[in-house]
Amino acid sequence: MAARKKSAAKVKSLNKAVKKTAHKKAVAKKPASKKAVSKKTAPKKIVSKTTGPQKQRAPGKTEPLDLSALPSELVTREDRHVCLACVLDVMTRYMGLPIKKAQTEVKRYAPSLDEVRARALSRPFFTSQNKEESCPYCGSAAKWHARFTIYRIENTKAADTRRRELLKSLPPSGFAVIEEKATRQDAFFQWAEKISSGIDLEDPRWLREVSRHYLIRKDPKTGWDAVFAQLHSIRRSRRLDAGWELDQGRLFLAPLLFDELLLVQYLVSRAHRAGGLTLEGRYTLPELFARLRNSGYLRAAGIETRSPSDAFEQVVMHLGGGDASLRFYYIVDRRDLLERVKALEDLRVPKAKTLSTRRP
Ligand SMILES: [Zn+2]
Repeated sequence: MAARKKSAAKVKSLNKAVKKTAHKKAVAKKPASKKAVSKKTAPKKIVSKTTGPQKQRAPGKTEPLDLSALPSELVTREDRHVCLACVLDVMTRYMGLPIKKAQTEVKRYAPSLDEVRARALSRPFFTSQNKEESCPYCGSAAKWHARFTIYRIENTKAADTRRRELLKSLPPSGFAVIEEKATRQDAFFQWAEKISSGIDLEDPRWLREVSRHYLIRKDPKTGWDAVFAQLHSIRRSRRLDAGWELDQGRLFLAPLLFDELLLVQYLVSRAHRAGGLTLEGRYTLPELFARLRNSGYLRAAGIETRSPSDAFEQVVMHLGGGDASLRFYYIVDRRDLLERVKALEDLRVPKAKTLSTRRP
């Protein structure tokens, strides 16, 4: 039991385990592989354990998690792949674990917060568009790759009850949940970044798209998709004090809400050409500042500075919700990993065709 605990500690991070031992291999190539040879014959014993045709499941067969009960703008999804050939090869050949133990460790694996937040993936993780793609590090075939889906929920009031219900309903063996403390400001900027990356600023329809995303985020209870399906234009209302109304395909927004939309549009497009594009045309920062001051938005937000750049910083802080705390919940779908390890139990781990810790 003691040995088991020790090896669990070793493989807490698949990333680190693989990197560390890849380095070790470069330094001490011969002794490591000699050790591996003697260990390699043992795992064949477990063959009798796997019987029945259900063991040969196709990769990627698990149904995606249904998060449609949560506001769509508060949920992100990212698919990653982990190469089990890379992981098992390193664990058995270089760390000297028996294959069965290595498989158990992989089944137990759940990523750390740092790992789920990492933008740049390294061995044994990679992203893949093509299901048949071979491992970018070791060249193994697709059957050795498990999909890891990472969902992130931004936990606002609008999401809290459903988020709790959802987390309660997840079977613990198939999913790992990781919490992250953040601020509303962080969440807002990350949302704006995500929206920006998905739009084409050369195509003017993006203004409408960004407006739709923002309104869904701001007011998730309204069925905005149905509203947007019938609207031709978005305008500033002269009548409304708050909220919105739809009139013959024209969406009228209360002045402050409309100004928020201009700000978001400016924020998303300001790096594109000079100034940012909004529903009211292109604004430079001083023009936007004058516009928001005249409309009363700056006063409503409690911003008194005369400097456009300071005002912009403060106004974005105001719009984002400032330093108020907020939590992100990451749900890591491990089901495909568990299935893959099981399906591959009998197979000999392929030797790396290429060995690289960096993506080619
Ligand atoms: Zn690999």
